[in-house]
This record gives sequence, structure tokens and C-alpha cells, in this order.
Amino acid sequence: MNTKRINLVIITIFFLSFSSLLFSQTYFRNTIRIPDIWGYKTLKCDFHVHTVFSDGEVWPTFRVDEAWRNGLDAMALTDHLEYQPHKGDIPSNHNRPYQIAIGRAHDLGLTLIQGSEITRGMPPGHLNLLFVKDGNALVKEDWKESVEEAKKQGAILFWNHPSWVSQQPDGIAKWYPEHDYLLQSGIMFGMEVVNANVYSAEVHNWCLEKKITMMGNSDTHDPIQFEWEAETVTHRPMTLVFAKENTPEAIKEALLDRRTCVYSKNDLIGEEKYLREIFTNSISFNTNKITAVGRETRTIQITNSSDIQYELNLTSTNEQIGFPKKVKLLPGKTVLFSVRAKKDNIQLSSNVKVEYEVDNLLIAPDKKLIVPFEFDINITPKR
Ligand code: ZN
Repeated sequence: MNTKRINLVIITIFFLSFSSLLFSQTYFRNTIRIPDIWGYKTLKCDFHVHTVFSDGEVWPTFRVDEAWRNGLDAMALTDHLEYQPHKGDIPSNHNRPYQIAIGRAHDLGLTLIQGSEITRGMPPGHLNLLFVKDGNALVKEDWKESVEEAKKQGAILFWNHPSWVSQQPDGIAKWYPEHDYLLQSGIMFGMEVVNANVYSAEVHNWCLEKKITMMGNSDTHDPIQFEWEAETVTHRPMTLVFAKENTPEAIKEALLDRRTCVYSKNDLIGEEKYLREIFTNSISFNTNKITAVGRETRTIQITNSSDIQYELNLTSTNEQIGFPKKVKLLPGKTVLFSVRAKKDNIQLSSNVKVEYEVDNLLIAPDKKLIVPFEFDINITPKR
């Protein structure tokens, strides 16, 4: 081989190896289908994530890659202000996680929000700050001074895991005067109804009564697949934010306007109006007209275009027509729904409404969403 040819081979090998890096398929995004509502985008967000800059085990850019792979649209890195077990190896600089990760976030189209976690005993417990401008300036002896500084920076705050057993041994969240202070000062907008795999009924009630934004976050410390890509749980807990667009400003506006719900395991937790709209926009019927003679079975096809499995239980009864008692609307699938008159001599021509309770849509502790199904039914008696 002459030199020219050898050069050509080397160049070819160089570009081939590069292109395999550039177009690597190792990474793929697991898209989560949850419909948009009322012209808002339904953004999948995790606002409680740790890195090696506090007690996490993961580098900031890798948190962005994980979030993209998990189908998230936005994330906040919220390392502890007062707890850095790796500080012998990693500098104690509360702006670095965001600074390191923001380029990768832009590259992948993910909104990254600068955060910090105030980490104190109860009360006030652990508080996550979002939209921080200078994390280092938040380090203060008195937590109220940290809050004051955060306010000056335009940050907002939510209360993390109020029922955490390390701070509330009975696992029941308690409200302290310190939380009245935070709420009245205008900086506290939200609370974690779900933290990791723990749901708190008390927090759910407070959010409804005191008009506080519902949050659900992973609080991940280990690589995410060790915690939430395990066999039984297919996604991390997340906050669904109904925002005008996927920008930090629009997310902040939506959080302050309480336009969120929580997606945890197969449950959606949130205000009735949001859950109803998500359900309604997820499912469609091939027809709502039923024509039959006597006890002929008629079958309707119901398609669920979301990734949430809706589990329905019949709650109303109809004297003349039989409807399925339980219906599982499988994610991304079309299922059959059979309807039949109860007797051969029934004569019916009317609009019939039946109601189902959706087991996995929680509008208050112990209260599930009720959805109506309506059909135009024409039954002629069998002769
Ligand atoms: Zn945390």
C-alpha cells in the first residue's frame, strides 16, 4: 500500500468510528403518552434529584441523560445545602451541578431548573428551592435567612416529604407554625404528595384545603435504573405540569397557578378537573350507538391512547341494560365493551348513562374519579 492509500484507510477508519459514536443507538427515549389538556402541554417533570454534589451517586450530566431516557421534559437538580458527604473529593459549590448539566440539557431539549434543598430538622424539615440564581448565597446559619435570600433571587419553594419517617416516626405529616410562616411569606407554593414511593394522605388534604400545588418527585440518589426501572415499576414518580410551553418561565407560572398532578406507579393524583380532562382526552369510542333485538350482545371498542392503565368499576345500575362490571383500559390498546339487554321483551329507545369509578385516579384521599359513559340505545323486543 502506498502512503496515500494508507492515509485514506486511516481517515476512513477514523470517520467510521466517529460516526458510530455520533449515531449510537445505545440511548433511547421512553416516551410517556399522557394527553395535553386545554391547550396546555402536559410536561413530565421531576423536581427533586440529587447528584454527587450532595449525597447522590451520579454526575449531573448523567442525570440529564437519565431524565431524557425516562421521557421527562423538565428536571431540577436539588442538592442539599447543608449536607455534602463527598466534599473531600467534590468541591462544595452549590451552582456547579446546574452549570455542569445545562449544556447537555439544552442539547437534549430538556428544561433544567436550578435548585437547592434546605435540609433542616423538623420543623421546617426539608425544603426544595426552584429557580435559584446563586446557590452559594443560600448557605446561612438560620434557615429563615436562606429563605429570605432565596426570595430575593426570585426562587420558589416546596416542602419535601412531610411524612418522612426519619422526621415523623409515625409516618403522619404534621403542620407546624413554621409552615404557616413559609406559606404567608409567599415563597412556599407546593408540597410533595408523593416522595419516592410514599404517598401522604395528609399532604393531599392540605393541598386541597390550603390551595397548595401538588408535587410528586423521585428524590433519586442512586442511578435511576436501580430505583425506578426495576421489574415492577416502569417509571419514576413525577409531577405533571400543565404549561403553556416547555420553558422555565412557563413552568414557574404553571406551578404558581397550581396546574399540576402527580403520576406515581399507575396512579394519577390531583384535582378532579385535571384528572377528568386527562381521562377524557385519553379514551375514544368507535361508536356510542347500540342497536339490538332482544338479548343480542353488542360490542363497543374503546381505545386508550395514553400510557396509563385505567381500571374501572361500575357504580351505577340500569334496570334494562347490562354493562361490564369491571373494565381495564389497557395503555395504547383497544378493548371490547359488551352491552346487552337484560330481557328479550325490552323496548328501549333512549340515551343511557352509566357511571364508572376509576380506581387509579385519586381526586382526594379515599375519593376516586367517577366518569360517565353515554350511549344511544335502541332495543326492539324479540318476537
Ligand atoms: Zn432530597
